[in-house]
Parts: sequence; C-alpha cells; structure tokens
Amino acid sequence: MAETSSREWNYHPDFPIDNNPLFAWPPRPLDTLKYYRDSWLTLSEGTLFLAMAWVAITYMSPDLATTATLDWTWAGGIYLRNLATLIVVAGGLHYYFYRRRGQQTELKYTSKFLHRPSERFLFNNQLYDNMFYTLVSGALIWSAYEVLMFWAMGNGMITLSSYGENPIWTFAALPLISLWISFHFYLNHRILHFKPLYDRFHALHHRNVDVGPFSGISMHPVEHVLYFSSVLIHFVVPTDPMHVIFHFYMLALSAVFGHTGFDALLVKNKRRIALGHFHHQLHHRYFECNYGAVDMPWDVLFGTFHDGTPDARKKMMARIRKNQT
Ligand SMILES: [Zn+2]
Ligand SMILES: [Zn+2]
Repeated sequence: MAETSSREWNYHPDFPIDNNPLFAWPPRPLDTLKYYRDSWLTLSEGTLFLAMAWVAITYMSPDLATTATLDWTWAGGIYLRNLATLIVVAGGLHYYFYRRRGQQTELKYTSKFLHRPSERFLFNNQLYDNMFYTLVSGALIWSAYEVLMFWAMGNGMITLSSYGENPIWTFAALPLISLWISFHFYLNHRILHFKPLYDRFHALHHRNVDVGPFSGISMHPVEHVLYFSSVLIHFVVPTDPMHVIFHFYMLALSAVFGHTGFDALLVKNKRRIALGHFHHQLHHRYFECNYGAVDMPWDVLFGTFHDGTPDARKKMMARIRKNQT
C-alpha cells in the first residue's frame, strides 16, 4: 500500500492500477481467481448490494401479479424505497466521512473535503447541488426504469428465471451484470464526452473535481436516462426479479461508493470494504481518460487508460495535444 508517494494525491493505491485480469494477455489465472474471490466471496460492493437486493425483493417490492397493471400505489412505493435507500447510503457515507470526519484524511485520495461555496453549484453549495440532482432527478429516473421493468415482468415481456428453477444462472448472472455495466458505461460515457453532448449534459457531473458520495449520480437528467438504460438488457436475457434490483444498485449505489473519495472504510485500522474507484477519480482529475470501469479493459483497448503513473500522464497529455492539432 502506497500511503503518500505522489504530491498529486493525499493517498493513492499502488501504481500502476490494474484492470480485471480476466482479460489480461498472457493469461493471469491466479490473479483472476483472486479478483473474483475479492469481488464475490468477501464483503464487497457486489456481495453487499446482492444482500440488499434480496432484502428489497423479499420485503420491499410489489409482487408481479400486482405490477401487471400500472398503478401509482406500487410505483410510488418503489420510488420511496429508492429515495430512502439513496438517503441512507449516500447520506450515511457523507455523514461519517465528511461531517463526522470519521476517518479524517486516511485513505482519502485528496485532502479537500468537497469544493468551497461556488456559483457553479446550485444553491452555491456542492453538497446541496449534488443532493438535488441525486434525489430529485436520479431517484426519479431510476424508479421510472424500475417501474417499467416490474410492469414488463408482470406482463410476461421479460423471460423470468427464478433461483428455484436455475440456481446456477442466478449466481452466474451477477458477475455478468457487472461486466455488462462496464461495457454500457464506457459506451454511454464516451459518447457524452463528445463536445456538444459534453457541454449540454455531462459537464454538470464534471463540475465535481473533488467528489463525495452524493456526486456519484449527480447527473443531468439526460445522463440519468442513458446511465440507467443499462437495465434494458433484462428484456433479452433470462432474469430473476432480484437481478433487476441488484443491477440498479450496481449502477446507483456503486457510483455513490465510487465517488466517496476514500479508498476503503477502516474499522479498527483494518480495511473492511473497498469504496472509492481510483480509476474514476483519475477521470474526475483529468477528464480525458478512464471513461469506463476496471471490470472490462475498454480504456486499455482504445488507448485512454490512465494507470496513475507519471508515464501514463505524459501519454495522455500527448494524446490530448494530438487531438487538438
Ligand atoms: Zn464521476
Ligand atoms: Zn466524464
């Protein structure tokens, strides 16, 4: 672990940062096993969101017989559940790391705790601005997609595959959902970086150079529509309703975790759960790199990967200069 080896960062993980070794050549089978063990057999985003999705589908979701008919009662219930989930998860992380300063700057990528009051943010305040876009537009568009999915499942438009019928697929689909999200995110995010779309829609997210939990899905509504469209994949692959909720958590809550600004939560000086996505923190610092996520190496393939090293920074600057001439 490198605590402080660069003036650029208060803390950063060891450089060069890695991508999912599943796609490495020559193959790295042991690293791949370790990657998937850490992702799916320990307390991680994946296992936590899976447990939360199970609770949500078992105790806090309408049954599919009800959702066959659109009705504000169950649709509103989904919205309130998602709103409460965002408030508890993002609010809890913000309270612990930014208000209580529970970890001070330990494992924090930058030493700043959000931006100073500025006119570039709604209400002149980054936190209130980010909460507004997360809780108003984010929760609403997430829930609209979720209502669509539940309505479609209730009407037999999505092929259902329950745990009882196909337990192997129920679990195998989880890492596949994560890979799909990586692919979909690279694509929609790369498109949003084309100048006209960037200026109109995506610049709103990038006002946050320093980020906090509420920055995760603090996006323009058009970006929310693109970002959450990842779940439409369930119209073509067999799906357990729990997969749909898990998929939404991997979009919304993973972004909240990923923008926390801290690499991990420490309990008694031990890393209990990985939080920040340093790969994406580099994107917020430099804009023109790391459009995807580490689960699939699209940035490596398209020459936009920044692994944190000074060498990668030089290459990125040369690429930007070349694109400008
Ligand atoms: Zn971001
Ligand atoms: Zn971006």
